[in-house]
Amino acid sequence: MSSISLQDLRHVYANGHVGLAEVDLDVHDGEFLALLGPSGSGKTTLLRSIAGFVQPEGGTIRLGGTTVVGPGAWVPPEKRNLGMVFQDHAIWPHWSVARNVGYPLRLAGVPRKDAEARVRSVLGLVGLDGLGDRTPAALSGGQRQRVALARAIVGAPQALLLDEALSSLDEPLRARLRLDLKALTNEQGLTSVHVTHDRAEALALADRVAVLRAGRIEQIGTPQDLVRNPASAFVASFVNDAVLLDGTWAEGRLQVAEGISIPGERLEAGPCYGAAGLGHGALAVTAAVSPLDLVLHPVHPSLAHPNLAEDTGRAWTGVVTSALYGPHGFDVSADWHGKTLRAHVTGWVPKPGDRVLPEVLRARVFAAAASEAADGAGKADGSEVGVAPMGPVEPTNGDTLRTLVRT
Ligand code: ADP
Ligand code: MG
Repeated sequence: MSSISLQDLRHVYANGHVGLAEVDLDVHDGEFLALLGPSGSGKTTLLRSIAGFVQPEGGTIRLGGTTVVGPGAWVPPEKRNLGMVFQDHAIWPHWSVARNVGYPLRLAGVPRKDAEARVRSVLGLVGLDGLGDRTPAALSGGQRQRVALARAIVGAPQALLLDEALSSLDEPLRARLRLDLKALTNEQGLTSVHVTHDRAEALALADRVAVLRAGRIEQIGTPQDLVRNPASAFVASFVNDAVLLDGTWAEGRLQVAEGISIPGERLEAGPCYGAAGLGHGALAVTAAVSPLDLVLHPVHPSLAHPNLAEDTGRAWTGVVTSALYGPHGFDVSADWHGKTLRAHVTGWVPKPGDRVLPEVLRARVFAAAASEAADGAGKADGSEVGVAPMGPVEPTNGDTLRTLVRT
C-alpha cells in the first residue's frame, strides 16, 4: 500500500509563482523517497502540502488510505500524524533535550512514565543516549539536529518529512548523520520524504528520487535509473553533470560541429522518441554526455597540431581548465568548442592547459526543444556548437588516437 499518495496536486501562490503543477506521486510503505531539484522547483511546497502547512489549490492527498486533502476534505496538520524536520532545527533553547523530544507526547496526553521511557528509547535510536538532561546550547549542531529528529519520530508518525534537514551541517558531521538517518529509517521501517538540493545526498540515501523542475515531477526512479536513463536533458544535466551538445541527427550519426560527429551505435534515444527511436530523417537534437561516458585522451605536446581538421581549422581537441584530485582519480573540466566537458580521469595526470581528445562512449539523445540545461548552465556556456549545417562530412584519415567524436 502507498503510505502517501498525491494525485494531480496543483498550487499557484498569490504572487503568481507556480508551486506545484499536476503532481502525481506515490510513496510506498517504508520507502525512503528524496525530492531533488534546484532552488524554487517546488520541493518545499510539495513537502509542506503533505504536512498540511500549505493548502494546495487542487488535487488529492491520501495518507495511509485516508484522504487529508481533496474536494471537500481537509485534515489539519496536527491530525496527520507526521514527523517533520527542518533545516534549522527549531528546538527550544531553554528546555532540556528530553523535554524538547517529549513535547509531542505531552501534547498528545501520553502518561508521564510512558513518555519518559519512550523519550529515552528514541534518544538511543538517534545516538543521544544519556544526553537527555543537557540543554541544546551544550550540544553540537549535529547533535541538535538529532534532537529535532528524535522529536519528529517520538510519536511514531506514519511518515517522516525532512526539508533540507542535513543542509546546515558541515562535513563530516553531515555524512555521519546521513548514514545514521538511513540506518534508522530502515530499521524502523519509516516512510520518509527527504527534500534536498544535494544530488549526491539524494542518490546516496534514497530508494527512489523524484526530480522536480518548475513545480513538476520531471522524472521519478531509482538512483541508478536517474543516472543511467535520465528522461530528459534537464535530468541528465542536473543529476549527473552531463554536458549537453546540440547537434543534428542524420545519416546514422550525430553531427555536433562541422566535421565532428558521434556514431549512431554510441547513441541512445531518450524516451521522447518512443519505441521508434531516432528514425531516418534529419533531426535537431541535444545529446547528453555523462562524465562517466566521456574519455579524455591526453594529447602529447610534441604533436604540434594533431587536432586540426584540415578543411575547417577547427580543433578536435579541448583544453583542460581544471583537474581536481580525489581518492578515485581526477575530476576534469575541459573547454571544447566553448562547451565545458566534464570527465573522470584515471591512468594519467591531467593539468590545466593540457590538450585532450574527447571520446564519447555513450550519449543519450533528446529532442532539441527539451534541451535547456539545469539552472541555465547550458545557456551560460554560450556555445557556438549550435545546430551544425547539414552537408557532406569529410571522411577522416587514420590517426594515433581513437577519436570517436570525429568523423
Ligand atoms: P524549493 O523548496 O524547491 O526551493 P519552493 O517550494 O520553496 O521551492 O518554491 C517554489 C516556487 O514557489 C518558487 O517560485 C517560489 O518563489 C514560490 N514560493 C514559495 N513559497 C512562496 C510563498 N510563500 N509565496 C509566494 N511564492 C512562494
Ligand atoms: Mg525549499
